[in-house]
Amino acid sequence: RELARKVEQGSPKTEPRPIDSYDELFDMFLSFQSLDRASGQEGRNAYVARIPAAPVNRDKPVRISIYGTGGIGKSTVAANVSAAMVLMGEKVFQIGCDPKHDSIANLCGGLKPTVLDEIQKRGGARAMNREILKQLIFPGVNHNNHLYGTECGGPVPGKGCAGKGVDLALKLFEDHGLMEEYQFTLILYDVLGDTVCGGFARPLKYTPQGYIVANGEAASLTQAMKIAQSIQAAGQRGVNCGIGGVINNMRGVPNEEAIVEEAFGAVGIPVIHHIPRSEHVQMAENLRTTVVESFPESDQAKHYMELARKLLNNSERHSLTREILSSREIIAITNKHA
Ligand code: ADP
Ligand code: MG
Repeated sequence: RELARKVEQGSPKTEPRPIDSYDELFDMFLSFQSLDRASGQEGRNAYVARIPAAPVNRDKPVRISIYGTGGIGKSTVAANVSAAMVLMGEKVFQIGCDPKHDSIANLCGGLKPTVLDEIQKRGGARAMNREILKQLIFPGVNHNNHLYGTECGGPVPGKGCAGKGVDLALKLFEDHGLMEEYQFTLILYDVLGDTVCGGFARPLKYTPQGYIVANGEAASLTQAMKIAQSIQAAGQRGVNCGIGGVINNMRGVPNEEAIVEEAFGAVGIPVIHHIPRSEHVQMAENLRTTVVESFPESDQAKHYMELARKLLNNSERHSLTREILSSREIIAITNKHA
């Protein structure tokens, strides 16, 4: 009622300022946290010491895409899996494909300039060359040059198309042969999948398997089903891709494992791992690192290691065995387990 009253009264007119510095926003956020910057240092030292001297040998990099709706935990999963894969001998490239452009922030020490920002600054994609692109590939802070990241970025909000930007940025990296130059063994695309249309479907052209991050809330499951359908549709259009499986990034809903298993089991898609909710995620994030780096001995880090191993070893692709579940069917499942 109070909110309704305020809406009715109308809010005081303020002149909005564009958010041109997300870093500023993050610093403001950090100022509310009690933060011990030295925490996790022992973990980070142990992490760095465990990085193999030379990366594995591979003719062609393994490529994986991770899709999910906004805020579901894609970047947290992706960054932790990337950090884990470094310990398994991979030379990793994580590509953020979300206008939020915070995919690699916890790997590379903060928010970084994006490909689209640079294109805008230079007045078009044709002005981009190999050297400029290389300046947009950032080394991880704790990874001994075995991990790099980049952000596609997004258009000015309200102008332009985010999908087109992703499409363009990804093409630039391929066309300039940067994957070969850096000899990455593992390329991970962290992709916003609210609607897998236009450029957001581009990573599927490079990755034989797309994974979907979900949790046990009905709204998230509905969205995840739509992503599954989109990946399947891309496969039917002739793109060489399939559904690798679902990653349950748990929210803390009662019986969440059973809910997600049942919902996706009903359409023939396996849940490959259940990641618990853990405060280690926030602790690591406030230090601008992953859990795997700062708290490598935690149970949470072990889950990310296990997921990374499963992703590396999984060559299976799955298809929907029936139409995706409707919201009504999903709610029936969540209610049953409530
Ligand atoms: P996305 O990339 O899908 O938009 P993020 O990975 O940025 O989502 O996750 C959103 C927030 O959720 C993160 O800032 C993080 O604090 C929190 N989060 C994600 N996974 C977990 C988890 N397993 N436990 C606790 N918090 C999590
Ligand atoms: Mg993200």
